[in-house]
Amino acid sequence: MNFGKYFLDKIWTYNNAEALIDAATKKKITFEKLARQITSTASCLKKLSVKQSDVVAICSENRIEYLISAIAIFCSGAILVCVNNGYSEDEMVHALHISKPKYMFMSLDAYNKYYKLIKSLTLVEKFIIFDNISMNFEVINFNDMPQGTLEMNIYEPTEVNGGTALILYSSGTTGLAKGAKINHRSLIIAVQQPIPSKRNVVMLTITPWSSTMGIVILLRELFYGKTIAFLPRFDEKLFLHTIQTYKVCILTVAPPTIVTLCKSTIVNEFDISSVEIIHSGGAPLNSTVIKELKTRFPHVKSVLQGYGMTETTGALTAEVENMSKEGSVGKIVCGNIIKIVDFETRKILGPGQVGEVCVKGPILFDGYIGKDSKDDFDEDGFYKTGDIAYYDEDGFFYIVDRIKELMKYKAWQVPPSELEDLIMKLPTVKDVGVVGIPDSLAGELPTAFIVKQPNMDVKETDIVKYVNTKVSPWKRLRGGVIFVKEIPKTGSGKILRRKLRDMIPKLPASKL
Ligand code: AMP
Repeated sequence: MNFGKYFLDKIWTYNNAEALIDAATKKKITFEKLARQITSTASCLKKLSVKQSDVVAICSENRIEYLISAIAIFCSGAILVCVNNGYSEDEMVHALHISKPKYMFMSLDAYNKYYKLIKSLTLVEKFIIFDNISMNFEVINFNDMPQGTLEMNIYEPTEVNGGTALILYSSGTTGLAKGAKINHRSLIIAVQQPIPSKRNVVMLTITPWSSTMGIVILLRELFYGKTIAFLPRFDEKLFLHTIQTYKVCILTVAPPTIVTLCKSTIVNEFDISSVEIIHSGGAPLNSTVIKELKTRFPHVKSVLQGYGMTETTGALTAEVENMSKEGSVGKIVCGNIIKIVDFETRKILGPGQVGEVCVKGPILFDGYIGKDSKDDFDEDGFYKTGDIAYYDEDGFFYIVDRIKELMKYKAWQVPPSELEDLIMKLPTVKDVGVVGIPDSLAGELPTAFIVKQPNMDVKETDIVKYVNTKVSPWKRLRGGVIFVKEIPKTGSGKILRRKLRDMIPKLPASKL
């Protein structure tokens, strides 16, 4: 079945309930209006001759037209590719070269930023711009697309026979992003995963919809009829103001937002007592932060973690209310299989044993576009995630780190997240990212990039001493501390370690 049709049929049933609130512009749309505009846009795409297996990209900040276009593209049978509007020029070229879109929906900001570059690639034939712009043979205004409203009652989404619906780029924390092919069936299954029982409440999300976490959670919550407030980008004041204005009950955010909330110096100026549930995913969230959050905001009943990836169409494990454990990312979502295997022998491990997460099931992707994906699967068809984890006797999973991100000091493994959790406990530290600085003798020297809390003073020696007394000898901060203004992260909160490593050569020689 076409996922677009499946989604559309469902949201028609929510009638005049509010679907989306753009908290930056205060624009709102009901489910009925949303369904009408999707249908109209989908029939416009038909008039523009968009057909099955054409690739259509969206590159924009979060906004109502983003969702309308996305579902319309699914309905047309074309393949949607969500492109990050924060990409550097090189990242944009790489992303478009692998997906090769023929049409591109863009906000004016994104268009102005990338137009010349994209034009030089000679891939995109038509740009459809969400804001007003003077039209020409290759540029169309979203609002002036060839009218399709007359066909509303007779429009039928294209049959797809299980083909690719969506190309999602993995976050590229350690290398160039890869485009994962997600089919219509995986999306249908992904939106049906259990969500908290509370229905008639507002959920706030700020994760970019170009990320897997952003788009899949958006689709899932709307599928269940929830009202979603969103922001085009994170702004602490606006975020807190939005919670207060719309009495937001559920926050679905990446860990950095939770850390910002915990350490906020302006939160007391706002009434955020409506927040009861916080969902976190996309990157590790340490237990200290959860404890700090619950102490500071006692009205927060649950902080629930989920774990997943682009290749599993979002969540693979999730905590749900009354079924959570400290430090865990919950239990596996229905219908899938996880095995934890030894890194070297590939033998299946039991409870409490740490190994690589391998997964099989209907939410799994169909391989990467333009790349042989054979090596990413084992001989039994399990996708090798590269994540290190274990599960307990009750089936709860605990993520330890990523294989690729492990540092090696004299052949000893050092998980950066362990050092980051430790350093985040210091009240003088606002944010931290740990990477290994290459060393010809030892392999890598663990080094912490640190953002200080405003108006707080802390010295490198204080941090190094503190860490070194608490960890095994091989995990010591031998590369020292580098103070920075910001830790580079993806929209879903993952530390961009390749960017941190890129910052190393620019440092004074004394730091190397
Ligand atoms: P992406 O495909 O870009 O969404 O990245 C997926 C990766 O993010 C996973 O393979 C994990 O390494 C990491 N990740 C996602 N959720 C969590 C979580 N709750 N805790 C720790 N790591 C996570």
